Amino acid sequence: MSYEAATIKFHGVVQGVGFRPFVYRVAYEMQVKGWVNNTANGVTIHAEGVDLPCFYRRLLSELPTLALVKHHTFESVEVEGFTEFSISQSDMANSGEVLISPDVATCPECLADINSPTNRRYHYPFTNCTNCGPRYSIILDIPYDRPNTTMRQFTLCPDCGVEYYNPYDRRFHAQPIACPRCGPTAILRDTAGAELPGLGQLQIASGAIIAVKGLGGFHLACDALDDRAVEQLRNRKKREAKPFAVMARDLAVVKRYCYIDSEEEKLLSSPAAPIVVLQLKAGLSELGLPESLAPNLNTLGVMLPYTPLHHLLFADGLDLLVMTSANRSGEPLVTDNAAAVRKLDGIADYWLTHNRDICHPIDDSVIRVINGQAVFLRRARGYVPLPLELDDKFLPIMGVGGDMKNTFCLLKDNRAFISQHGGDLGNYDNYKQFTHAVEAFAKVVKANPAELACDLHPDYYSTRYARNSGLPYVAVQHHHAHLVSCLVENGVKDKVLGVVCDGTGFGLDGNVWGFEFLIGDRREFDRVGHLEYLPLPGGDNAVKYPGRIALAYLLRLLPQQADKIGTYFMDIAPEEKAIIAHQIRQDFNTYATSSCGRLFDAVAGLTGICSLVSYEGQAAIELEAAIMPGESGVYSYQIDSDQGMQLIRVATMFSEIMTDLRAQTPLGQIAAKFHNTIGAMILTVLHQLRCEYGASQVALTGGVFQNKYLVEYLVPRLTNAGFTVYQHRRLSPGDGSLCLGQAIIANEVNKNVSSNSR
Ligand code: ZN
Ligand code: ZN
Ligand code: FE
Repeated sequence: MSYEAATIKFHGVVQGVGFRPFVYRVAYEMQVKGWVNNTANGVTIHAEGVDLPCFYRRLLSELPTLALVKHHTFESVEVEGFTEFSISQSDMANSGEVLISPDVATCPECLADINSPTNRRYHYPFTNCTNCGPRYSIILDIPYDRPNTTMRQFTLCPDCGVEYYNPYDRRFHAQPIACPRCGPTAILRDTAGAELPGLGQLQIASGAIIAVKGLGGFHLACDALDDRAVEQLRNRKKREAKPFAVMARDLAVVKRYCYIDSEEEKLLSSPAAPIVVLQLKAGLSELGLPESLAPNLNTLGVMLPYTPLHHLLFADGLDLLVMTSANRSGEPLVTDNAAAVRKLDGIADYWLTHNRDICHPIDDSVIRVINGQAVFLRRARGYVPLPLELDDKFLPIMGVGGDMKNTFCLLKDNRAFISQHGGDLGNYDNYKQFTHAVEAFAKVVKANPAELACDLHPDYYSTRYARNSGLPYVAVQHHHAHLVSCLVENGVKDKVLGVVCDGTGFGLDGNVWGFEFLIGDRREFDRVGHLEYLPLPGGDNAVKYPGRIALAYLLRLLPQQADKIGTYFMDIAPEEKAIIAHQIRQDFNTYATSSCGRLFDAVAGLTGICSLVSYEGQAAIELEAAIMPGESGVYSYQIDSDQGMQLIRVATMFSEIMTDLRAQTPLGQIAAKFHNTIGAMILTVLHQLRCEYGASQVALTGGVFQNKYLVEYLVPRLTNAGFTVYQHRRLSPGDGSLCLGQAIIANEVNKNVSSNSR
């Protein structure tokens, strides 16, 4: 083999992840000479040696844990005669295309460091290295260097300096590097502000509620095995029924309470360390867990400790902690120490704070494994701000998303950067947080939108933001945006059938859409089917009390059974029943809706499975949780074809559910049959549409497709029937992915405009 030279380039997440020291080590082992350098686009290597293809292969197969190579090239060049291999100090001032890493869970080596009494980082809560630690949450600006992070106020001590500058050290160029001598400190205080020793483990063990500052914001923590503490947290936080997420000491603890398959285990232990929604092995109380952890559910959201601080909280024999976002319900994340003391007054007994500031507030991500695949319920910490790689180049457009579960998206060349979840923009503080986040996010991903895309809903706050921005904007129909985001994620450009099932979206006819069959692509769509319009009684009460929706639907669908209907809904006062009956008869103060979410609400209300909704999606979630497995029955429904529009009619379904209720059929059986029926309706309509349009590619999108039972019922049947099925893999199926579809559709609109004007 002859002595040769090559230029090797890597693009992707290759900076701030220990890439250059890794190259250095492999080069040293293989006696390769030359240099490695960070460039504006990634990492470039000049290599000279005898078997460079082998060197290249080794680099690719042994990549550092956090590196994500999107693109790599190998090109033979002239030998220049280097006598050693070196790491060039990079001049990164104008780095344009370097991806910022998400925050990363503590790596095994750092965990060993904090558990080793002889290590200088023994029990140090801010230990990290190039393979782990805070990233996105602490970045103020790019390039990603310590002075551009919230670590800039901490000057490296000599020991940390040695590690930072030594290419053989695991902490070489780890920007958040710290130790007890030079880094951030954690302080425990009581309500009077007095400092206490420890991190609060003892207080938690004796039943206290502690506000804990984590990576992306404050959590409220208490012992998840302590009934009284969990109940108290629920009362103080005024959180009625929404399940609490828990943090388990380790996988063994998780397995004590939940079933867990290999995919779920992989997710839990991954560097992103998301909350994974797992099936409980038995009822909560049978497992010795408080009922109030997750009322009426058979699942639990579980995560593993992902910072040294979290690991240390478990040091004294605690097994399972409630770890719930510390914000009051509907408000933004709490990230600031002073705000935490103010806002959590009356909720927390103690505050565990630290002096490393959080620049980008970010929630825990939530994932559920459905049909063997990870489905995002919330995409945030551990994933943001990594972009989606797209199949085309796009204009610099920002999709501002919708008002619920808001996310926004910045297109930049062939990438889409999607923000973390914000809250409901109807809350003023959330809206303010959204406007800050837009600026901070755009800065870090170096994208400057020249145009906006928003929802068609004229009253959404996100729409108003677009309208008032001073930039040109395009308003996009909600369900078209859902469809296109799913298509883009899957790289599909064809016209396909789209099934969009969600709670609410502003329709082209001004009605509230939500159980929609579309045929469309990135440019345009036709509505080719939907659930028949049903009357949603006006006012907030309807969405809060599913029984009222059920009553309204039944009165419209089965007027001849009105007397019988009156005997259900014991929890609705007679006067109120009369008002609803009047509303339906006169069509007064009602909205016409084809919403799928409201159909779930109505069935949950009719069966009494959920009679009071205190968090979004509760009725549907509890209806799914009530399912008795093994039931294959399906209720009847009708499909009417009217001028190419397929209309799903549900009167017979409701009538049969009432018959089942009168026969005292177990509710779990009714819940299962209802789910089967939704699946069957979708299958029937799709068969019809395939005949009519010849399309056999189907995209499933909308929040309803976070329902594990429904997806696992539907997808295998679709596949068996010869359909090609597309689902969300990188983003949430719910409104969290609207922003991507909006931006892509706006890009198409622009292309059209410019080609028309030519
Ligand atoms: Zn580490
Ligand atoms: Zn130090
Ligand atoms: Fe939606």
